[in-house]
Amino acid sequence: MCHVVRTRLSLLARFGWIVLLLPVLAACGSSGNGGTIAWRELPTPTQVPPTPTPDPDAFPAPTRTPTILTDAEIAQYRPNELGRIPILMYHGFTSDPQHTNTWTVTFDRFRADLEWLHDRGFYVISMADMINNEISAPPGKHPVVLTFDDASSKQFRLNKGPDGALTPDPHSAVGVMEAFFAEHPDFGRGGMFAVLPINCFRYPEAETTCEERLTWLDDHGYEIANHTWDHQNLADVSDETLLDEVGATKIWIDERVRGDGNLGNVLVLPFGEWPGHDRQVLLLKDGFIYGGQQIILAGIVGVTGGASPSPSAGTWTRWNISRFNTDPELMAYWQDLIDTRQVTLFTSDGHPETVTIPDPIPADLEKYWDPEWASSYGMQVIRYDASALPDRDLETPDDVLPPEPDSEGTPPSVDIPAGATPPHSEGSSATPSATPSPGRRTEE
Ligand SMILES: [Zn+2]
Repeated sequence: MCHVVRTRLSLLARFGWIVLLLPVLAACGSSGNGGTIAWRELPTPTQVPPTPTPDPDAFPAPTRTPTILTDAEIAQYRPNELGRIPILMYHGFTSDPQHTNTWTVTFDRFRADLEWLHDRGFYVISMADMINNEISAPPGKHPVVLTFDDASSKQFRLNKGPDGALTPDPHSAVGVMEAFFAEHPDFGRGGMFAVLPINCFRYPEAETTCEERLTWLDDHGYEIANHTWDHQNLADVSDETLLDEVGATKIWIDERVRGDGNLGNVLVLPFGEWPGHDRQVLLLKDGFIYGGQQIILAGIVGVTGGASPSPSAGTWTRWNISRFNTDPELMAYWQDLIDTRQVTLFTSDGHPETVTIPDPIPADLEKYWDPEWASSYGMQVIRYDASALPDRDLETPDDVLPPEPDSEGTPPSVDIPAGATPPHSEGSSATPSATPSPGRRTEE
């Protein structure tokens, strides 16, 4: 698991820098803008992977010299790590074209989406690497994140053979992905599942348990994120219910997902709805005590916003991560913008420890450029002269882009079993401790 080691080593390399920043961060504090969450943030001590912190003694901090691309490689790959990263959002799947809707696509359509992405040099990365700005896509590739909400059985069915062997059902989104990833090893692999504990890919004739399904996903490069306990609209809940919904789900995921796929501290907002009160938004961002445990979130994911800014962009915030729905109309809209180069994509330099950005910056990315932010992760920012290179971008400013089709609406409600409520914890508290620490799995 080369990926795991790399992540942990670079995490450690980053920690020394975080300590240096602490006095500045303490002075900045955090401020609430209510439900819009668009202020500029410095990386905070919670800017760490959703996975646990490694034991420093086990992983001595390396000395790293960023590898700089040669001029020929720059000309070949045209890296631009200020570009945008699509985060695709899927809900329902069907085999029957008659049963599609805004939130349900056919498996054939899903496969076609993957084909389209692969044909254009996209590379599937994890949400954790996106949030941590540790993007390890090969040089010249465009990162993409695949996400799946609500944990339906059409997303993932896990079959058990007579010998006990576990195999994803080919008639599930994971089955489609596994076949596609196997055929296209240059595409990366992964996908983030925003899971509801009450809806853990369940179906009546299931041959496997919820725990087996989560473990299989975790073991195969997928991620399990927090979509609340039972998909309540957080816009209209009490503080107590908010903490139950988020805190109980975080602990539930920690108890079941032991590997790097644990994104229990990444909250995917049900219906894309923010809590109705500013203090509740701050609870999510500052952390809280639930069931005797400290709950510190690493990111909050919405359902709209279009192709995400790069984590190296000055406008990026892990507190409001943008996605777009994959209904055919909206998907076609973004595909057209990408194919006509009206949206400049993130193009990797292949090195997570450097941020390579062309000079001049394409017009549609100018608003993203903030040298202070780009270097604030402790990575080396590399600029190169792109003016002499052949022009490949139309560089159409955002303000002349066609309006986004109004097809997003509100994601569907989820079929909730009767009587399903999160286990209320007597130990919940709205008071975060004075020294927040990154989310940890319960067994460590
Ligand atoms: Zn949902």
